[in-house]
Parts: sequence; C-alpha cells; structure tokens
Amino acid sequence: MKSKVYIETFGCQMNVADTERAATGLRKAGYDLTTVAAGADVVLLNTCSVRERAERKVFRRIGEIRNQAKRAGQQKPLIGVMGCVAQLEGAAIFEAAPSVDLIIGTQATDRIPSMIERARGGEASVIDLDERQEDEVWDVSPAERRSPYVAFVPIIEGCNKFCSFCIVPYSRGREKSRGALEIVTEVNRLRNLGYKEVHLIGQNVNSYRPKSQEGLERFSGATPFSRLLRAVAATGMERIKFTTSFPRDFHPDIVCALEEYPNLCDWIHLPVQSGSDRILKAMRRGHTADDYLRRVDAIKQSQRRLSLTSDIIVGFPGESDADFENTLRLVRNCQYDGLFIFKYSKRAGTPAAFLDDVVPEAEKTARFLALEQLQESLQHGVYGDYVGRKISVLAEKESARSSEDMTGHSTCHKVVNFRARQTQPGEIVDVMISEAKPYSLYGALAN
Ligand code: SAM
Repeated sequence: MKSKVYIETFGCQMNVADTERAATGLRKAGYDLTTVAAGADVVLLNTCSVRERAERKVFRRIGEIRNQAKRAGQQKPLIGVMGCVAQLEGAAIFEAAPSVDLIIGTQATDRIPSMIERARGGEASVIDLDERQEDEVWDVSPAERRSPYVAFVPIIEGCNKFCSFCIVPYSRGREKSRGALEIVTEVNRLRNLGYKEVHLIGQNVNSYRPKSQEGLERFSGATPFSRLLRAVAATGMERIKFTTSFPRDFHPDIVCALEEYPNLCDWIHLPVQSGSDRILKAMRRGHTADDYLRRVDAIKQSQRRLSLTSDIIVGFPGESDADFENTLRLVRNCQYDGLFIFKYSKRAGTPAAFLDDVVPEAEKTARFLALEQLQESLQHGVYGDYVGRKISVLAEKESARSSEDMTGHSTCHKVVNFRARQTQPGEIVDVMISEAKPYSLYGALAN
C-alpha cells in the first residue's frame, strides 16, 4: 500500500501554488495524497510567517497532530514543516518542537520525496534550506490543483524590495522570474484542459524581469510585465488576473494592456500600506502618497472601470494620529473596491523590529476598527453602483446559504451569489445584479 501524505497550507497564494507543486512531485514519487491528517503517514505543514499570529498557529498545529496520533493509539506520522517558517527558523524548529522530523525550505519543494525517504531510512532531523536548482521547472499536475477552473500560475518568486516591516525577502529570497515561454506554454496547457481563469501570481508581479526575451518577441510594451500580460492574453485564456502589484513598479502601460485585451480582468491589487509620507519612508516603500495616487489616477481614468484593492498596515512604529488621518484621507480618495487591513506585527530580523516608538495594542485595534468602518461605508457605495448592472461571473460552487444559489467571482474579483437554475460549476454566466451586500453582490442570470 502506498504511503499517505497530508499537506496543510497556511498563508498566501504562493504557498497554495507550492503545495500543488509538492503534491505533484510526491504523487510522481509513488505517494498518495490525502485530505485528512488523521491516519496519514506523513504530515506536512506549509507555513506563513508574515505575521506573528500565523507563525504561532503552526506550533499549535504540530502539537495537535502529535496528540491526535497518540489518542488514536497510532504511530506518530513523520511531521514536516515547509514554507516561510521553515526557511526562517531552520534547525531551531527541531528544538522548539522535537516531534518535527523534516524542515523543508521555500525552495526545496521538489526535493521533498528524497527528504522523506531519508527520514524513513532512519536519518533524524532532515533539513534542506538550499536554493532551487537551475533546471527545476514549475510542474503542477491538474489533479493536484485546488480548483478545476481557476489555476494559480507563479511568474516571479521572492522579493527585492526590503520594506522595513516585511519578512518576505528573508523567507523567500531574491526575485527570480520564470521564463515567459514557460508561462505561456503553461497557460496554453491549462486552457486546453478547460481552465477558465488563471491568476499570474508573485510577491510583486509587475517587477517581472525574465533572463531572456523568449516568448515575448511578438509583444510590445513599456515593461517586461506589460509585454507578458499581452503574451498571456494572446493565448485566448478566458480570464486572466494578476496579483500582487508593487506601486513603485506600476507602469501605466499595464492599464493600456488591460484596455487592449478584454480577457485581462478588470481588477488591480495595489497595496499602499500607509497614507503618510513619513511612515511610507520609515517603511522603506520607495514611494510617497502622491506617487501612489498618480498610479491610482491612471487606473481610475481608464476607459474600463477597473476595480482597485489594497493592503494597509495600521500601528507601524511611530504612527501618530496625524499619520493615521493621512491614511484615512488616502482611503477616502481612492474609493477602493476592497481593503485588507493588518495590525502591524513585529517580525524579528526586519529593520522595523529595531524601532522603539511602538503603538500600543489598544490604539492599533482602535485604528483598525476606524479604518474598517470607513472602508465599509465607502464600499457600500462602490458595491451599490453594481446594482442594475450585468456582470460576468465564473460559477464555482453551490452557495453556502442556499442550494438554489451558486457562488463565484466576477472579472473584477467580487464574490457574486446568484439564483443558479441550470448553471454548472465552471460555467461563465452573465448575472444581473439586484442587491449589494457589504462584501458580496447578489443577482440572477441575465437571460
Ligand atoms: N509584496 C506585496 C507588497 O508589499 O506590496 C504584498 C505581500 S505581503 C505578503 C501581504 C501583506 O501583508 C502586505 O501587503 C502587508 O500589508 C501585510 N504585512 C506584511 N508584513 C506585515 C507585518 N510585519 N505586519 C503586518 N502586516 C504585514
């Protein structure tokens, strides 16, 4: 009987993509993948370290898995920690959690089968924090993908930005772009397999800079990323989304590409982090609030109505009431379609961890709630504007509320629930919006 591996994924889309890639390699090496931890021979936790809370969760889960096996009278499974916590903490995890057998760094995904074999062969504390090998290609089998309709396609790994609050450059290394030909070939393959939507993903997709022009020759554009967008759009894939964009590298030619190709979706995620120039400087973002607003102007002035979302951190060290007021002003100005708000979390090893002027937790919470309330009231207006409009929705699954309804995403990446009739998951349908809720839209099939 084949050994069963269970992978639990925390954090961002990059981790989801890594899990899919790890599962593909494991299946090829003769393992079975299971969706439950109980009874698995190997449990891998694919971890996130962007905030402290996410990191603590991993250690809790390790204890739960060990105890679960003990309670069931089973042998402890091999436990592996993969992803960002593994890369950052390295061998220290073996000391903090002695039941862990494997530490798998962010670039060791393809070497997991041989690591498991070593552990099964009796080697204690197997660890690999090395870089990816040059000849490794991104290989994900459709069977391991999270969805049969929507696929994540990594185009760039790592980060060179070194924002003072962020752990990513340390956990994922320097920016490394995949070749355009390889990306276009993967999108073509996904299209032939019936996928309806791809998300080009990376910490900073618009910093895309491949080593060669191969695959981009026929496509013009002001930056390699806008050329890649055109190349991917030319595959005819029905819907193409991309996330995350970094403000400093956001060239208006991206907006031009979106205007040229309707299959490039009308959604841009452009994290600003703060509306205060003083805080943006301390965050080492490399842009001011005005620089950011100029990018937003290009987006808002497009012939297409482009949906705009962002990330903001409240309570960065030294953030005063006046700084926070500037953030509120910027948010009012941007009229975001959605906003992810984070309370600043100190990450050891980042420059911001050395800053003293800590914002008290209660103040962080108050600012979080104030910003959330503002965004909700603005979003009420943004979502309300969709009522009476027809939008294209990819039906994904039955709605949690009613078996007569389906839920899916619009091209502008809003959750849309609608009366399903004969609609099947994976179909793209037009929905006439009749009601706007704070975080979703509701409607019925247009025809
Ligand atoms: N690379 C993108 C950028 O910086 O524009 C986003 C990547 S990051 C993994 C996702 C979000 O997590 C960030 O945009 C930021 O808002 C938040 N984040 C990162 N580090 C944080 C920290 N130390 N405390 C709180 N939030 C954090």
